Parts: sequence; structure tokens; C-alpha cells
Amino acid sequence: MIKQNLHTHSLYCDGINSLEEMIESAIQKKFTVLGFSSHGYTPSESFGMDENRQNSYCLEVNKLKEKYKDQIDIFLGIEQDELYRINDPSQFDYIIGSKHYVKGEGYEHGIDCSKEVTEQLVSSYFNNDFLSFCQCYFDDLKKMATWDEVDIIGHFDLFMKFNEDESFLSFSNKQYLKMAYETLDCLIQNNKIIEVNTGAIAKGYRTKPYPDFHLLQYINQHNGKILLNSDCHNAKFLDEGYDIAMDLIRRAGFKSMEVLTSKGFETKDIDEFIM
Ligand SMILES: [Zn+2]
Ligand SMILES: [Zn+2]
Repeated sequence: MIKQNLHTHSLYCDGINSLEEMIESAIQKKFTVLGFSSHGYTPSESFGMDENRQNSYCLEVNKLKEKYKDQIDIFLGIEQDELYRINDPSQFDYIIGSKHYVKGEGYEHGIDCSKEVTEQLVSSYFNNDFLSFCQCYFDDLKKMATWDEVDIIGHFDLFMKFNEDESFLSFSNKQYLKMAYETLDCLIQNNKIIEVNTGAIAKGYRTKPYPDFHLLQYINQHNGKILLNSDCHNAKFLDEGYDIAMDLIRRAGFKSMEVLTSKGFETKDIDEFIM
């Protein structure tokens, strides 16, 4: 049976646990596969890693792979931000491509800080039009479709973090779905794996994972590949929301998910996964 998380943060970026504490928690929660994905370089030191820190991170993960090899499969990954592409992807077993910022003339802002910041962003730079904010985000996300180093697309609709009450936009807005579907087409055609991400559930912002259910259904209908990740920043929450997400994944019709092995990604029957 398989239990996997490939989206794990630690003290090397903005997580609160050491790599080893994460591994101990994973073993205790019966994970079979754990991938580390510290944030790659960003200008914020508390968030991303500079080159030195990235080197120490890679060394330590590689050591721990060996130390724990009889108990769990450990992989070395990185969460690369769309604005800050990393220099040497070859040292990583896999790469998550994510978008955390919107950037325009004279500004660059994190998009998932708070509801108030989202409101300000949309009013200051997008003429109070939430749809044009979404379009800007998706246009950038689409760029990663053709980036060879990117295996997984992280939190596809992160800008919906503070929109569970749909106060910014309805999840079934037709114009919105059209742009989301176009973006998904692009990613699926280029064989990118779309992550089902429960990170905002652990943090209490959402009761459902990214991407929204409409989008999960679309991915399934268009033979897109998915995997389940917890975007974990706290060892206690390594499998937080997995039961909720698995229910939605099954209801969206998926029969399989992707697993990382020493030979690369493999597609496995959904019944092989334990939660
Ligand atoms: Zn992220
Ligand atoms: Zn993350």
C-alpha cells in the first residue's frame, strides 16, 4: 500500500520542524513515500533558500535518504517559484512549480497572505476585477507547462485561498471556469502532474483542497494526472485533510494517482493508496 507526500517544508524554509522530525512523523503516520520540497530562492529570506542554504538542504536530505532507507522512501525535491527559476534542476529528484506572487510594473506581492491583502491587490492593480487577477495568475502558471524541469504544478488555484465563502468569485463562474480549463488543457497536454493540495485545510483557511471540485472533474475528464500532497509546514499535519481530499478525488472519478519511485513517476490504482 502507498501513502505519499511530496510537498514538505522544514526549517530550511518556512516550516517549523527539522527534516528528521518530518521523517519521524511520516513513519509514525505510516507514510511510505516522503519528498522534501523546500522553497527555492525568493527575495524573502524567511521563505526561500539562498544558494548556501540550498546546498546544505540537498546534502542533509541525501544523507537522510540513506539513513532511513529501510523505513521510508525519501526524495529530494524543491518548490520552485514561477518568478525565480532555479539554476541547476538536475540535482533534484523532482520539482514542484508554484506561483506565490503577482508582479507588474512597480509592484510584486504575495497572493496568499490574507483576505485583506487579496482585496487590496485586486483593487490596486486589477481595477477591482477579481477575474483579471485570476487571468494574470493563470497566464503566468501556463508558462510552466513547457518548462522541462517542472514535474508537478503546486496549488493550482491558490488565489482562491480566502474565497471559500465565494465573496470574491463563484467557483462556478463561467468566465472563470473557461480560463481555468484553458490553463489545465495546457498543463495536461504537456504532461504536468496537477497536485491536489490540502495545505490550507491544516492552516484552517479552507475545508477543501486546491484545486476546486469543478476543476478536479475537468482534469479527470481530460485524462490529467494528479497526486495528493499536504504542503506540510508542521509535522503534526502531515496527512491533514487527506480523507477529505481522497473522497473528492474519488467523487471526481479518478481511478489512479501518481507515485514517485526510484525510477521516476508511476501511475498506481487508487485502491493502492491508504490514508
Ligand atoms: Zn507553495
Ligand atoms: Zn509549499
